[in-house]
Amino acid sequence: MKLVVSFSRQAGKKPIIAQVVLDTGVLINVERALIDFSEGEALIDIPDDTCIMVKERLADLGATVRVLEDVIMIDESRCVDCGACISICPQEVFSFDADWKLRMDEKRCVLCNRCIEICPHRALARKGEG
Ligand code: SF4
Ligand code: SF4
Repeated sequence: MKLVVSFSRQAGKKPIIAQVVLDTGVLINVERALIDFSEGEALIDIPDDTCIMVKERLADLGATVRVLEDVIMIDESRCVDCGACISICPQEVFSFDADWKLRMDEKRCVLCNRCIEICPHRALARKGEG
């Protein structure tokens, strides 16, 4: 399960994700992080059965947490199966099926937006956008 964790760095300088690993014993995979002097946002991947425990501990430490839903959508009326998104995606979300039609494994997505920017037919968007 993927969680988006937002936190203020003004509240304290402690590395809160490392703290949660120590406190819960859950191995957290950090897939993406954007951190500046005042705040940060991280996309983490954890086993589904640890979600409540990890969310509660993150909240205790002052973070805001939301579950990442599948957010990259394909407009199949626009997609021409050119494969450009397959080349650019760092997570191997896209592939071709046996008929050379594009398919997605959206659970692998880390929301880097590269595919949205590169698609020549504007066939990709975040859920609720586009
Ligand atoms: S880059 Fe766009 S048009 Fe090309 S396969 Fe991907 S979604 Fe389809
Ligand atoms: S947003 Fe990034 S990780 Fe997600 S499908 Fe697009 S290129 Fe891949």
